[in-house]
Amino acid sequence: MKCPICKHGETTDGTASVTLQRGGLTLVVKDVPAQVCDNCGEAYVEEQAAAQLLEEAAAEARAGTEINVRHFQVASLS
Ligand SMILES: [Zn+2]
Repeated sequence: MKCPICKHGETTDGTASVTLQRGGLTLVVKDVPAQVCDNCGEAYVEEQAAAQLLEEAAAEARAGTEINVRHFQVASLS
């Protein structure tokens, strides 16, 4: 797609690091599948991955985790 930030670049498949903050929790997830702009470098995390990260952040916050750095793992279908 065309990048909505710079309006010049095209996005291509790539990965991004995402930082989420929930209450006292800081969660950093690396290698999240994303569309990355070839011009400005803006990353657009894919919707399914973003939803998964929000769920995981909520669970970590409930568990009382303060900081966690991890690599993205596709949720297993069960
Ligand atoms: Zn851009």
